[in-house]
Amino acid sequence: MKYYIETYGCQMNYSDTERLKTLLESYGFKESKKREAADFIIFNSCSVRQKAADRVYGEMVNMAELRKKKKDLLVGLTGCMVHKGKEQKMEKATYELDIAFRPEDMCHLAGRIRELRPKWRLCETDLDGYFEIAPKTSNKYQVSVPIMTGCDKFCTYCIVPYARGREKSRPLNGIVAECKKLVKAGAKEITLLGQTVNSYSTFVKLLCEIDKLHSKGLNRLRFMSAHPKDFSDDLIKTLSRLKTICPYIHLPVQSGSNSCLRRMNRPYTREKYIEIIKKIRKAIPNCAISTDIIVGFCGETEKEFKDSCALYEELHFDMAYLSQYSTRKGTFAAKKLKDDVPKKIKAERWHYLNQVLKKHSLACNKKYIGQTVEVLIEKQTAKELIGRSREYKEVHIREFDKKKKWIGEIIKVKVENVREWELYGDKL
Ligand code: SF4
Repeated sequence: MKYYIETYGCQMNYSDTERLKTLLESYGFKESKKREAADFIIFNSCSVRQKAADRVYGEMVNMAELRKKKKDLLVGLTGCMVHKGKEQKMEKATYELDIAFRPEDMCHLAGRIRELRPKWRLCETDLDGYFEIAPKTSNKYQVSVPIMTGCDKFCTYCIVPYARGREKSRPLNGIVAECKKLVKAGAKEITLLGQTVNSYSTFVKLLCEIDKLHSKGLNRLRFMSAHPKDFSDDLIKTLSRLKTICPYIHLPVQSGSNSCLRRMNRPYTREKYIEIIKKIRKAIPNCAISTDIIVGFCGETEKEFKDSCALYEELHFDMAYLSQYSTRKGTFAAKKLKDDVPKKIKAERWHYLNQVLKKHSLACNKKYIGQTVEVLIEKQTAKELIGRSREYKEVHIREFDKKKKWIGEIIKVKVENVREWELYGDKL
């Protein structure tokens, strides 16, 4: 039997897919590179944006064609589109869907498969816990480790607390043990994952424990995504002194307007956010910073949008992930707030802010010209090596020994040229 997983959305979903692969292979499934050849097709979905959810539903329709050729085909859905307690309802409502399950419940998948396909012989029975499943990593040098699931913040536009449930921190010892194993197997960079990763109960202690793996070969430690509310002074101080922490922070602000932040139920002010960024920059000089901004949120006035632009100009972010607001069914905003910014205005605001983003991104990158950065190589083609610097800048290297295998190597590169999204240089 063969499986095929199609993954959408954030790093958390990709990390869930790695665990799902291990699980399915322990049952006796083999991975198929082609969807058409698979017996079990799973969509690991994202519902943060309407477009991503629509794509999954679109793909689901195609399953009818495949089922004509393969009568036994099993179709599964997981990720943020599956809400707690709504699994059976989804299975009944979506014609081509056989199994809907939340990522946290994947350990009970064997029972469901047996129920639906009794003739399929599965080797293993269900496991005990989601976190106990070791991920099947595609790149042993750069790995992600989830440290928590769910979210307690309830931003009014977001479906995650309903889809993934309340915040649940994983025991510290289990995380450190997994990191040790991964470093022993060759990991040079670890990214800790969580919807609000720094809300983890003992986050500072956890970072300090993992940092000790520096002597065992861990070179880089990152985390995604942080929340401003829990970005404490103690955390900033710790980040500045740990050897493995990379000088790059992604800290979503979502809006530069206090009134808009209140409607979004983001529990901080524009002033507080600016204060945090200034403290980070003081403690970690040259720290690259990126953010998320939503434009066109319910009731967003021209003045509120301008506040977001002004915040961007003031903090000159290295990068930002911009999105145009779209209603997600089931959220507070969908029930109580009016999605009243016309589509055209949303698009205009997005394009305007995107120009601001490009300008700052280029200016930030220009600072690297003539400097040396350390790059962990992720990709090697006939023409170039591609990797990321500690500051999370994508770096392209054209001159290199083409006979040698470079993936997983950390090399020093002198930056010669830059564009908005990349740096270009030569290996030293
Ligand atoms: S912090 Fe807000 S946006 Fe982030 S996952 Fe939680 S509810 Fe969603």
